Amino acid sequence: MSTFGPEYIRAIAPYQAGKPIAEVAREYGLDEANIVKLASNENPFGIPESSRAAMLAAAADLGRYPDANGFDLKTALAKRYDVPLEWLTLGNGSNDILEIAAHAFVQKGEAVVYSQYSFAVYALATQGVGGRAIVVPAVDYGHDLDAMAAAIDADTRLVYVANPNNPTGTFIPAAQIEAFLQKVPAHVIVVLDEAYNEYLAPEHQFESSTWVRTYPNLIVSRTFSKAYGLAGLRVGFAIAQPAVTDLMNRIRQPFNVNSLAQAAAVAALNDTPFLDQGARNNADGYRQMIAAFEELGLEYVPSFGNFVLVRVGDDDGAGARVNVALLKQGVIVRPVGNYGLPQWLRISIGLPQENAAFIEALKKALR
Ligand SMILES: *Cc1c(COP(=O)(O)O)cnc(C)c1O
Repeated sequence: MSTFGPEYIRAIAPYQAGKPIAEVAREYGLDEANIVKLASNENPFGIPESSRAAMLAAAADLGRYPDANGFDLKTALAKRYDVPLEWLTLGNGSNDILEIAAHAFVQKGEAVVYSQYSFAVYALATQGVGGRAIVVPAVDYGHDLDAMAAAIDADTRLVYVANPNNPTGTFIPAAQIEAFLQKVPAHVIVVLDEAYNEYLAPEHQFESSTWVRTYPNLIVSRTFSKAYGLAGLRVGFAIAQPAVTDLMNRIRQPFNVNSLAQAAAVAALNDTPFLDQGARNNADGYRQMIAAFEELGLEYVPSFGNFVLVRVGDDDGAGARVNVALLKQGVIVRPVGNYGLPQWLRISIGLPQENAAFIEALKKALR
């Protein structure tokens, strides 16, 4: 074990990403073209055509640095969310936003509250600044907001809330979020991570930027990686009042969002047909998945995202075992043992034929 650097950095377990298609093809001697990847909650339609065209046009200027202030993208976002430009922070993916928040608001030894079974990056961002994690037990695989509010202690500076949550897919209704925001002390920052917001059915949608007007300690985080299909470009953004935004702006990298990503995101933001198609496919695919789980008698957590968590056995080797059986058949999903869910797998919702291939492979894997 290295003795370089602080102990809290050495203690970090690196983020485990979904296995790349090429790697699985090499390891299992499979043809890349036959591999189905449902492991990283990516958009099965890929990048929108509108973004591809915008990127190609922007490529002509790649000899220059990106716009450090992201004027065009912020202008488009400001219009969409009806907030001033000074309320927006762009991120190299919303992961960047989650980390910037930790760096801006948490010092070594101060505390960060988040839920059990919530997004792995909250732990990483906390450890990265030497923060103390207060992990609040989940209820029904989702956030227990009352317990989270109660867990905030004198040293707490930040709370992460994922809605919908990854990897469990659970959702917190607007009224509960608002009640929580009222309870959190005014000096504690709340990061509301809404990476899957665009997948919510209209009756569950709430324009959380309106909360930002009421709560000066709130940061709403969104991404272009999921519903907008731009995961490989890395672009996300935050909405917060100017005092908070100003601090995040001071510590972000000056050119944290590249030119291609900025151009592609502007195009995607206004590509309503692409979003609609994705939402329809996701709703249909979710029904396809849970019908299969019900037929197989498998427990699953009702999901509000573009993925679903399913329990593939009752021993702690089940997730890893079924995962390998799926990999051998060219299907990549996400084991979640690192989240403390060793009996479960997280499956991203793909195109109908990808979902069907997964379901067939799962049936074989369980036999
Ligand atoms: C995927 C995801 C993100 C963001 O990913 P980026 O690609 O960095 O924008 C953030 N939060 C949650 C809960 C996610 O699942």
